[in-house]
Amino acid sequence: MPESLTPDLVALRDRVATLAAEVLVPLRDDTALEPAERARRTREASKAAGLFTMAQPAAAGGSAASALALVVARDTLGQHDVGHLPGLFGPGPGVLGGVGEPLRTSHLLPLLAGEKRGGFAFTEPVDAPRQSWARVEGDELVINGQKSYVTGGGDADFVTALVVVEGRGPAMVVVDARAPGVTLTRRFGTLDGSHHAAFAFEEVRVPVSNLVGEPGQGLTRALGQIGDVRLAIAANCVGTAGWVVGFVTAHLLAPRRNGEPLGSHERVRLRYGDMCIRAYAARSMLYRTARIADRGENAVNEAIATKVFATETVGELVDMAIQLVGGEALVEGHPLEAAYRRVRSLRLAEGESDTLRVNVARGRLELDKGRI
Ligand SMILES: Cc1cc2nc3c(=O)[nH]c(=O)nc-3n(C[C@H](O)[C@H](O)[C@H](O)COP(=O)(O)OP(=O)(O)OC[C@H]3O[C@@H](n4cnc5c(N)ncnc54)[C@H](O)[C@@H]3O)c2cc1C
Repeated sequence: MPESLTPDLVALRDRVATLAAEVLVPLRDDTALEPAERARRTREASKAAGLFTMAQPAAAGGSAASALALVVARDTLGQHDVGHLPGLFGPGPGVLGGVGEPLRTSHLLPLLAGEKRGGFAFTEPVDAPRQSWARVEGDELVINGQKSYVTGGGDADFVTALVVVEGRGPAMVVVDARAPGVTLTRRFGTLDGSHHAAFAFEEVRVPVSNLVGEPGQGLTRALGQIGDVRLAIAANCVGTAGWVVGFVTAHLLAPRRNGEPLGSHERVRLRYGDMCIRAYAARSMLYRTARIADRGENAVNEAIATKVFATETVGELVDMAIQLVGGEALVEGHPLEAAYRRVRSLRLAEGESDTLRVNVARGRLELDKGRI
């Protein structure tokens, strides 16, 4: 097994599997439930099972789980096709992890307590004339520019935005969503069911103390945050890939009208065998990368590679599963139809695949990072 888990992690995996099978799957399938009520019950169940605080720092009452423990939890949730339910994990610190005062009290702690909601504002609209920038005036930053695709931005109290501070370099800065000069210019939803917002900044004044770290560190901080999220996405994909293989396995073994299960055909077995191989490869990469990260070693290239491979693999697997199950799998509400919509966006979110391939090449050719 790629996992070779310690007894603690086996216990975690079993606890999450029980939670998923006994509570989360029935919640997912209860179509009469309002989404907000489903999220509330998911949150309560997750808290009771000790899952909710796993991605939160110990200083904020979280259990600051290791990368491997988070991978085990997310993989197991995905294997039951419930990893996408809102409310499973409490808000993580994101780029605000480790900030000092005043941001710790004004934004980080309220974020972790669920009292404030934040958005990550990195992507610029394609037609932006200039990358978002700021000039320093006394003890204030004056920000201009635009951001798009801020997930959850429509309900956010603040966004952490990447801006170029003139003469000093890129920086992450906290901008309150209702500060004068901030306009929410567009709200939109995407195929996977998530919601996003675009913002314009016009002469927005924020205190210099809203800078997260020093100017010049902005890109590193932003990419650090993205790195954690990439492993989380990969773990969800690997779990979902396992669920897809399980779904197809049951389909291939089920008796058909002519008495011959679909799995008895060799050309179907070829496809199925390929699915199993890819799911296994993605899983092996994921667990190895989590272990490297937990040793405190540089795992940037490995996390990128795992994100690319896992998101592309789950996309191919869901696509092939639909092909093998047939038209029924495309009926609205079918689990594979829902999975197809959900996994497509993951090859773009948190870094699209080709840019990430270029990053791996750079890590190898220019920076001599990692082991791949
Ligand atoms: C569900 C979802 C959630 C998201 N959430 C957020 C969020 O919270 N915050 C945020 O800031 N952004 C978010 N994004 C935006 C996401 O980060 C961008 O969509 C992604 O980085 C790609 O940027 P783009 O859409 O501008 O496409 P582009 O950068 O224009 O890329 C389009 C295509 O051009 C090619 N390409 C571009 N650059 C290169 C390169 N350097 N090397 C090789 N090929 C290249 C690739 O084929 C690529 O797919 C989200 C996106 C999705 C789908």
